Amino acid sequence: MSQSLATVAYLGAAILFILSLGGLSNPETSRRGNLFGMVGMALAVLATVFGPHVGQSGIAWIVMALVLGGGIGLYAAKVVKMTQMPELVALMHSLVGLAACLVGFASYADTSHQLQGAEKIIHEVEIYIGILIGAVTFSGSLIAFGKLKGTIGGKPLLLPARHWLNLLALLVVVWFGREFLRADTVEQGMLPLAVMTVIALLFGIHMVMAIGGADMPVVVSMLNSYSGWAAAATGFMLSNDLLIVTGALVGSSGAILSYIMCQAMNRNFISVIAGGFGAGAPAKKSGDAAAAEPQGEAVPVSASDTAAMLRDAKSVIIVPGYGMAVAQAQHTVNDITRTLREQGVDVRFAIHPVAGRMPGHMNVLLAEAKLPYDIVMEMDEINEDFPQADVAMVIGANDIVNPAAQDDPDSPIAGMPVLEVWKAKQSIVMKRSMASGYAGVDNPLFYKDNNRMLFGDAKKMLDEVLAALKR
Ligand code: NDP
Repeated sequence: MSQSLATVAYLGAAILFILSLGGLSNPETSRRGNLFGMVGMALAVLATVFGPHVGQSGIAWIVMALVLGGGIGLYAAKVVKMTQMPELVALMHSLVGLAACLVGFASYADTSHQLQGAEKIIHEVEIYIGILIGAVTFSGSLIAFGKLKGTIGGKPLLLPARHWLNLLALLVVVWFGREFLRADTVEQGMLPLAVMTVIALLFGIHMVMAIGGADMPVVVSMLNSYSGWAAAATGFMLSNDLLIVTGALVGSSGAILSYIMCQAMNRNFISVIAGGFGAGAPAKKSGDAAAAEPQGEAVPVSASDTAAMLRDAKSVIIVPGYGMAVAQAQHTVNDITRTLREQGVDVRFAIHPVAGRMPGHMNVLLAEAKLPYDIVMEMDEINEDFPQADVAMVIGANDIVNPAAQDDPDSPIAGMPVLEVWKAKQSIVMKRSMASGYAGVDNPLFYKDNNRMLFGDAKKMLDEVLAALKR
């Protein structure tokens, strides 16, 4: 393929990626957005493999890598459960970071360019910055993977003088950057490059370890953004325009998402990065002697009584959370919604921006179950309507409906906007136990007079509610 044909294909792919991002901004157009992205990526891969920069011997290597990587990807996509998606995404981000590091070292070791003067310096700066971003993305995403999987605890690790440590790391990175650029040979340059990589890896670990449970959504979208910048840096190192454009698209859309997440959580981006949210009061597990603070008693309710309350209601607001994803209850939720609407009940959904474990998690599940989009409301659209609702039904949600965020300034989640389900005439919380949610904070909602607890797996309980509704 000639250079000009490859450039045209790259341009087409870049336009398709932009259309894809546009499509993904709305559930109704997201399938089309995905299709644009897939066609764009196929075009990009074909134009690269058959482009002017790959020789005959290179194609064999690329096909081997495609089969291996594609096979692993296909297997992962087939076996991964919906609830494991956030971890998988974090793992994918780490691979982008690792790729940027490997390309950086390979590009530096490759002396065939024979670059001189300003060109050489620019190339080396690209390598240094590319490996820096790649290493932070790699280690940070691995820690995020552990935190989302639950193998690493959600509590922030706050080292003494952590801000000074970060500043020191930055200064050391700058100093070694100077040493790297002054090196005369590749052998001399490898040492400062390797030292900087180790510092960047440690920085990535420290940065994500210092972030508390409820701030994880911001970190996930921030690492998404970093992975984009790492890909763009790889594009610079390889002089591949499409990789630069694609990386910049991912980087900037991830940055916008981080900003939206910060606004949704009522948090300042800098203070999230500086860490420490969730470091206040220690998390209390229900049942502890220390967990005596919430006043009142949690009153259980049966599935048939829940069905009766729903049937008698004129207006119902359903709040789905992570537990709905765990139980895979979205299809039963759809059946219940249809049954209630047929019986003349007004049913709407309230979606918190950080419900579940990844941005848009609930929207994806509800779309999968084919719920009508027009009854699925964002938090800002519906939060004021809870006082008019007869029943607010919470399905496997916890942190996002915790009144302590508003009432208790010492709560680790103080200031986080929440769905005000307790203002409905009756709230029903469906979960398996009194255990806390992701942020590890007790929830006073469970003990309110107008709240009832429907204990059990969300799918099982909803099946029972549906059966009772149909009787
Ligand atoms: P939470 O994690 O606060 O609560 C989920 C609740 O679901 C748990 O208390 C659990 O209680 C219950 N549950 C689990 N499995 C089941 C089941 N099978 N059936 C019924 N209930 C079940 O989730 P929320 O959605 O309320 O809040 C999201 C939290 O995750 C926030 O703290 C957010 O910051 C964080 N987060 C969000 C990300 C995002 O991008 N959206 C990313 C990372 C973190 P029990 O065990 O008693 O059943």
